Amino acid sequence: MARIVMKFGGTSVADLDRIRNVANRVKREVDAGNEVAVVVSAMSGVTNQLVKWCQDLSPLHDAREYDTVVATGEQVTIGLLAIALQTIGVDARSWQGWQVPIVTDGAHGKARVERIEGATLIERMRQGQVPVIAGFQGVEPVRNRVTTLGRGGSDLSAVAVAAAVKADRCDIYTDVDGIYTTDPRIVPRARKLERISYEEMLELASVGAKVLQTRSVELAMKQRVRVQVLSSFSEAPGSLVVDEDEIVEQPVVSGIAYSRDDAKVTLRRVPDRPGIAAGVFGAMSAANVNVDMIVQNIGADGTTDMTFTVGKADLARAKDTLERARGELGFEAILADPEVAKISVVGVGMRSHAGVANTMFRALSEKGINIQVISTSEIKVSVLIAAEYTELAVRALHTAYGLDGPAA
Ligand code: ASP
Ligand code: MG
Repeated sequence: MARIVMKFGGTSVADLDRIRNVANRVKREVDAGNEVAVVVSAMSGVTNQLVKWCQDLSPLHDAREYDTVVATGEQVTIGLLAIALQTIGVDARSWQGWQVPIVTDGAHGKARVERIEGATLIERMRQGQVPVIAGFQGVEPVRNRVTTLGRGGSDLSAVAVAAAVKADRCDIYTDVDGIYTTDPRIVPRARKLERISYEEMLELASVGAKVLQTRSVELAMKQRVRVQVLSSFSEAPGSLVVDEDEIVEQPVVSGIAYSRDDAKVTLRRVPDRPGIAAGVFGAMSAANVNVDMIVQNIGADGTTDMTFTVGKADLARAKDTLERARGELGFEAILADPEVAKISVVGVGMRSHAGVANTMFRALSEKGINIQVISTSEIKVSVLIAAEYTELAVRALHTAYGLDGPAA
């Protein structure tokens, strides 16, 4: 017997047939003698519609009311799934965030989970009842208002609930059947990973692999929650996200991710003196613009070029902010290029193997792809290239690191 938290995303509960399918999956786990709690998202498309209604009424709407509106999507699915479960003879009860309670801070629209009361849920599970919990939402106790955790937040809810009820596993059901070495739509020979470490998954999620929300992986790693990613539409075994020690054979590179969400900004001929980087990135952070990769060259004539990347959505604000600081910073020109892609290779094996970055550079050069910016961390190498070469680069790297599976 195990205690399992099962999480179903929006596509898995998109209509009544799929909700019935989910109910059957849950029943199977219950019939196998497991204690089960379920966390669900809103039916797919619903949250987008709710967000849009708020925006259409007022672009600068009140954040507390935004949460009141967008939290409703999950309320519908918990009720429907509880009914579907009861219909097939499974004892089930719905729970909204405030009823558990899932206590958060007051940062509406992107609240952080502070604590979850697990005792009552555990008691219900022991009695054979399945709690069906709304993902994405919580309650902040100071003003006693409903909060939401940010888009994609029900992964985070599921992991947090799993930690609170001390679950043996958190199964995240989605529309892909696991974590792949790269996006199978680009590389048909991508392989499903049986296991991947928290750290690798965290890096992959943060650089564009969209299977799990980044914050949920962070929490799983911190709380040591074993996470399984699998599909609600197939019987195939999923991928497990676990501690590095549980993985016997560590490949040097586990996965390759790409993101087209960044834009490149270059400041031409910035004075090369102390305080300039602080000035540039201080202005960015004051404007709430996240900066990712940064390079600065050595200049000969007392000036230098500085290049960095920001989210595409922030590009206009970044340019505007820099333009207004031009007098103080004293650069010659701002060049902006949104047509870039960031390609990242990730693997814990990099810690103990040399030449990993070089394999990447060589593979890209053989395809004639120019590298614009490079950044590295302990287990990751990222490069910025022209967006048009994204697919070519991902395929070349997948082959170069020996990740290709048998031809499909
Ligand atoms: N329904 C929310 C969203 O679409 C939360 C989630 O699905 O994870 O962002
Ligand atoms: Mg989701």
